[in-house]
Amino acid sequence: VAKTRGKGQHVLFEPEMHKAALDRLVVEADLRRAIEHDEFMLQYQPIVALETGDIIGAEALVRWMCRDRGTVPPGLFIPIAEETGLIVPIGRWVLRRACREAKRWTDERGLPVRITVNLSGRQLQEPGIVEDVRQALADSGLAAAQLVLEITESMLMHNTELSMSRLNALKALGISLAIDDFGTGYSSLSYLQRYPIDILKIDKAFVDVIDKGGEGPVLASAIVALGETLRMNTVAEGIETEAQRGHLLTLGCELGQGYLFAPPLDAEDFWHLLLARGARTPYPTLRRREMS
Ligand code: C2E
Ligand code: MG
Ligand code: MG
Ligand code: MG
Repeated sequence: VAKTRGKGQHVLFEPEMHKAALDRLVVEADLRRAIEHDEFMLQYQPIVALETGDIIGAEALVRWMCRDRGTVPPGLFIPIAEETGLIVPIGRWVLRRACREAKRWTDERGLPVRITVNLSGRQLQEPGIVEDVRQALADSGLAAAQLVLEITESMLMHNTELSMSRLNALKALGISLAIDDFGTGYSSLSYLQRYPIDILKIDKAFVDVIDKGGEGPVLASAIVALGETLRMNTVAEGIETEAQRGHLLTLGCELGQGYLFAPPLDAEDFWHLLLARGARTPYPTLRRREMS
């Protein structure tokens, strides 16, 4: 049974509905309908400078406002959307909406806001992905430098030739690339160096144990050091306590997101928080460091 997760998300399935909920065919049909009827929305989780709490951007997170199920979190429908290929039109919608909203915030505030969008492996396999991203930027007017695409480690391990050429083509548009949930997959260090990656996102699992003493901080520390060696920025995920924020700063991690700062927010709420806590200057270190 799905648990409540984050603000505004509801318990989805009664136990007796559980079997039906797992029926992929039903979900697939409902997802098709959801695309036609515009049942998706985006929430935005602020990404902040850990030192000051200033907001430098946001990660766009998709929600399905299902007619029959209430708000369905992505963990429950993205895997099915990936299996069925429906992630391609859904992901295209997410990308276009996120770029449009980031452009509107940038214009209204007169300062750039960086938007981060999750890309699934299935989307990267689509020949049209580079054109989709180019088109989303062109149609919204958002500067490519303001867009970050998050991929997972497994995408670097599969179809490596294809992934490499796709990621290089995406990079050539001027966007940045981040590895999501870093440390939970199996990417080899040599792959990491060969691909045009700008940002490592430290998975919440490593943040959770950072203030637990003993071996707790060892892996987060190693990832920050790896980021420095490979000249990539690190962004910590799922920061919930002041102690975690302090430890990450000590390790040299400068950026992060988590409930300590804000949960994923509706666009309107994010906009108000951005007005109150937005960084006055584009954060300088959120860029691949120049080779010295
Ligand atoms: P993710 O990209 O690693 O996103 C971070 C997840 O952690 C989000 O869950 C967010 O709500 C949650 N989170 C953030 N801060 C905290 C915290 O302090 N504590 C805890 N316990 N959780 C925190 P969410 O929104 O349920 O998304 C789950 C996953 O679904 C995402 O993980 C991402 O892999 C995927 N996803 C979300 N939106 C999209 C999308 O548009 N496209 C694709 N392909 N995947 C998406
Ligand atoms: Mg992500
Ligand atoms: Mg993540
Ligand atoms: Mg994660």
